[in-house]
Amino acid sequence: MRVRTLIVGGGVMGTAIAAAVARGGDPLEEPVLLLERRALGAGSSGRSGAILRQFYSDRPLIGMARDSLRSYASFEFSTGRAIGFTRCGVLTLASPRSKAAFELLLRNVESMRDCGVEVELVDSDRLRELVPGIEVASDTRAAWEPKSGFVDPQRTLEAFAATARSLGATVRCGVEVTGLQVRAGRVTSVETSDGPVDAQRVVVAAGPWTRALLARAGIELPLRAIRPEQHFVAMPPARDVHALGGLSGAPDADFDARFARAGEPAPAHPVLLDLEHGYYTRCEPRLERTRVGALDYARDATLADPDALDERVSAEFSRWSREVLERRLPVYRGEPDRGAQAAWYTLTPDAQALIGRVPGLDNVYVVAGFSGHGFKLAPSVGEGVAQMLAGAPIGAFEPEVFAPERFASRGGAVWSGAFGL
Ligand SMILES: Cc1cc2nc3c(=O)[nH]c(=O)nc-3n(C[C@H](O)[C@H](O)[C@H](O)COP(=O)(O)OP(=O)(O)OC[C@H]3O[C@@H](n4cnc5c(N)ncnc54)[C@H](O)[C@@H]3O)c2cc1C
Repeated sequence: MRVRTLIVGGGVMGTAIAAAVARGGDPLEEPVLLLERRALGAGSSGRSGAILRQFYSDRPLIGMARDSLRSYASFEFSTGRAIGFTRCGVLTLASPRSKAAFELLLRNVESMRDCGVEVELVDSDRLRELVPGIEVASDTRAAWEPKSGFVDPQRTLEAFAATARSLGATVRCGVEVTGLQVRAGRVTSVETSDGPVDAQRVVVAAGPWTRALLARAGIELPLRAIRPEQHFVAMPPARDVHALGGLSGAPDADFDARFARAGEPAPAHPVLLDLEHGYYTRCEPRLERTRVGALDYARDATLADPDALDERVSAEFSRWSREVLERRLPVYRGEPDRGAQAAWYTLTPDAQALIGRVPGLDNVYVVAGFSGHGFKLAPSVGEGVAQMLAGAPIGAFEPEVFAPERFASRGGAVWSGAFGL
């Protein structure tokens, strides 16, 4: 089989790239093939919170999050495919008692404004209007992004893959890329569980499995898989939603009506990133549950082999999740647990992805290492990688930020950073 572009991995990155590359080329002249070894969403993407925030420290990331949010928001209208886009707003709150986090909040709000993001710095009174029942001290402040929200991760991947297919790309699940044959700094053939593929260029978007696949071709990249845990609590029932009242402060008055029109169940409250207590929470209304995860990687064990993921979540993590959630949002007291799940993040030393040509391999590109915050960026990543492959100016992101070789010029890899916050 001969293709112009082979994409390895059916996560949000692989599918977004497949759609963007297929959009830019003639599918007969320049065939695009995506191979996924299991099913779409079998990696990090299928377990993602898929929160779309624009709260970042670095301006290039704010710009990507802003542009990708617009793309997600208009996706259903432009393609007719539903991705569960939910504009419930995102609140990131901090207390002056955690000085570093508080200063970060103030700085990020300024940077977001400079980048054209609609964001309001709100005080505790406004916070209580936005989320009645929330427990905050009088000096708590938050960044309120009324236009942000979340998507349904699995429906998004399926929709990206369907879009790629409709543009002539081939998306195949159950086929694993097992090796890359290298000669004179180029991949000459790709070995798969379904036989060899002759690909002119290869994009490796294999999430936590990327490092091992490229290592088999003699390339070592600074990628590390870790194991974050998530805990789920029942979302307050409809009658309590208004008691919690998270929707009342949303940007337009007919918020409920808009959800009803879109056929999406309404979340009980906005997404909350709590910098004071180090967690985030977002409602998953279709599953009638609310997710809680940590805002750093401190508890997450390194996974030498991503296939050896232990699915069980520690009782300690579940206890902590309930405690921080209930302290902030007492409406959750008494709500039953709705399970827990472990997953994978793929870290880089500076918590930003590696996107670009693999050093030492002319026709191989890596797109991995999103460090637990990539879902919201996928539309910009897809577009930018398509521009990169076409040799066009890259307008969708700043390639230097993600250059795979950037650590060499910094005197090596120092592991730091969290979620790009
Ligand atoms: C619990 C959790 C919560 C998150 N919350 C958010 C959030 O709220 N907002 C946000 O922006 N981001 C979030 N993220 C991060 C985001 O989900 C990831 O950055 C993103 O999903 C990474 O996508 P990916 O396509 O790079 O990798 P993956 O989704 O891991 O996809 C890689 C795919 O490659 C396949 N594969 C691997 N090896 C091979 C091979 N050899 N041959 C063929 N196929 C192969 C795998 O089966 C897998 O499907 C979260 C992540 C997790 C785990």
